[in-house]
Amino acid sequence: MIKQFTKLKNKNILITGGAGFIGSNLCETLLKVGAQVTALDNFATGHQHNIEAFLNKENFSFIEGDIRDLETCHKACQNQDFVLHQAALGSVPRSIEDPIRSNAVNIGGFLNMLVAARDAGVKRFVYAASSSTYGDSEALPKVEENIGKPLSPYAITKYVNELYADNFFKTYGLNTIGLRYFNVFGRHQDPNGAYAAVIPKFVMQFMKHESPVINGDGTYSRDFTYIDNVIQMNLLAITTDNEEALNEVYNTAVGDRTTIKDMAEQLRGYLSAYDAEVKNIEIKHGPNRQGDVPHSLASIEKAQNKLNYKPSHVFAEGLKEAVDWYWENLG
Ligand code: NAD
Repeated sequence: MIKQFTKLKNKNILITGGAGFIGSNLCETLLKVGAQVTALDNFATGHQHNIEAFLNKENFSFIEGDIRDLETCHKACQNQDFVLHQAALGSVPRSIEDPIRSNAVNIGGFLNMLVAARDAGVKRFVYAASSSTYGDSEALPKVEENIGKPLSPYAITKYVNELYADNFFKTYGLNTIGLRYFNVFGRHQDPNGAYAAVIPKFVMQFMKHESPVINGDGTYSRDFTYIDNVIQMNLLAITTDNEEALNEVYNTAVGDRTTIKDMAEQLRGYLSAYDAEVKNIEIKHGPNRQGDVPHSLASIEKAQNKLNYKPSHVFAEGLKEAVDWYWENLG
């Protein structure tokens, strides 16, 4: 993958949320490509350990700061060629718990970043959108142009991001691309805390010989997307020469789905290879969770056609790599 993106060598790239799961993975790849990487993060949900290995690299700099502060955003955007905006408060339940904070960071902070990127003359502003924008639309597979009503404050914030990005292109000519991520997983994703995503949370529970609890009967399904596919989409979005690809949103997924029950069984299988006792751990069930979309499956045709996206990892391949990483690093 790296060879294809060598034209990013020496380019100035700002990654907001750079100490988080997706942001730190983007930093890692872009540093390898030889880009001049700046990460901005306030450690709300990100971690120092995610960026520790980059701190002594001469093409990396870190700004500890909050996107709710416009001045910080202005400072971070200065001299940047591209922005990969990842900073946000993730998690549907967190947004239901505290919609005001999610709104302030995900919408207020987003708007600050757009203004700062516009003022700094950034060439392209690529941002983390979300599959939650499909809301109550039951159509499958999800096609970019056909969305429903948002089912949570988080989903509202992510949809408003798309509206603002579109408006900033039309009003100020700022080029943007929104990537609607579908349940991303992989190395560096935080397994701890009340709002942890389901895959790292279950991995951690299996490793501690605790029973994971599936919300509902486990038949809900997700287009689980390995981190390497997401990195590829971000890099394609900043390097594409196709003018028609700009100022659009793209599903960032594999185009396949797995039920939560099957995901948990596969995880148990992979981890049993490291620790035989894991195969005897019972998988439990609890009530369905408010705001959860029952099924999600993306059409990736638009990304394939306009960005030349080719997912490198199907779900099972990604899951195996993720399990290996968790076992080596946290086992
Ligand atoms: P993450 O929580 O690991 O990363 C988010 C980062 O943003 C963290 O490092 C956090 O400290 C930082 N941040 C939060 N508030 C901030 C603020 N006010 N100022 C500066 N930094 C701040 O989550 P992630 O999974 O890496 O998510 C990255 C982006 O992708 C987010 O925008 C999220 O909404 C979006 N997204 C993620 C998924 C997924 O499955 N992981 C799915 C859809 C969309």
